[in-house]
Amino acid sequence: MKQSSRTKATKPILRFAPSPNGFLHLGHAYSAFVTDKLAKKLGGTWLLRIEDIDQNRSKPEFIQAILQDLKWLDLNWTKPVLLQSTRFEYYEIAADRLKKMKLLYPCFCTRKQIQENAGIKKNADSDKDPDGAPLYPGTCKNLSPDKIEQRLNAKVPAQYRLHMDKAMGLTGPLSFKQLQSENSMAITTINCQPERWGDVVIQRKDIPTSYHLSVVLDDAMQNITHVARGKDLLAATDIHRVLQSLLGLPQPIYFHHELITDPQQQKLAKSKGSASLRDLRLAGISADELRNDILFR
Ligand code: GLU
Repeated sequence: MKQSSRTKATKPILRFAPSPNGFLHLGHAYSAFVTDKLAKKLGGTWLLRIEDIDQNRSKPEFIQAILQDLKWLDLNWTKPVLLQSTRFEYYEIAADRLKKMKLLYPCFCTRKQIQENAGIKKNADSDKDPDGAPLYPGTCKNLSPDKIEQRLNAKVPAQYRLHMDKAMGLTGPLSFKQLQSENSMAITTINCQPERWGDVVIQRKDIPTSYHLSVVLDDAMQNITHVARGKDLLAATDIHRVLQSLLGLPQPIYFHHELITDPQQQKLAKSKGSASLRDLRLAGISADELRNDILFR
């Protein structure tokens, strides 16, 4: 598919895009420092985007805390801050476009049904997506138009999935450019394998979007030239490239940085009780100490 290319010579623009569903921890601070460092190195700027599409988990107090924590770290973003929750109507327009192209289909399955139909017993790696979730077994893929209408009329909650095979037929093989490290600036090309994700959810049941759809639309709308984020999102870039190609969006250059881990080599997470930046600040650690500690560990 033809993709629009940037015609104006734009200055590099990066973004730091936390989700306000808890307090920031060291992993976020690292990501923000790397983004800031890379923006300076490229002679560009960075924006702050609050990824608050999950209306159940996002809280205003966490947004305030993100702003305070970043200020404490002496990090300065270009204003204004974009809140994804203000963008639902645009996400819906893009999803409608994909529906008109017959690339999305409604799926009425519950999480439990997917687990069962995917065959919990088999549980082989080939049945899982790169995040370890069961690949969608295609239960609702070939529902008759009558059945679909019946369920939609009966208000059975539906999520909308991408026909990955059809989509890949339209896009052809995809790749993306990635910086090898924030120091060398050497660029490498990575070939995408979106099929490993199966028919991903593009619109969730609770909201008319998903992380994948929102992130590609906002990166394009904000003219992001370089997406710097953690390695945990490297595989998801394959989905992002498919959506960019289908929707005719420009493709940024990517950089996926290392993740800060706990002593057991596990990714830091609010859910696992990793210390938040405010805990560390209250414990008397200075922002400089923290920067030196995590950038040069
Ligand atoms: N909101 C995502 C997170 O907090 C980051 C998304 C991205 O950088 O693409 O993990």
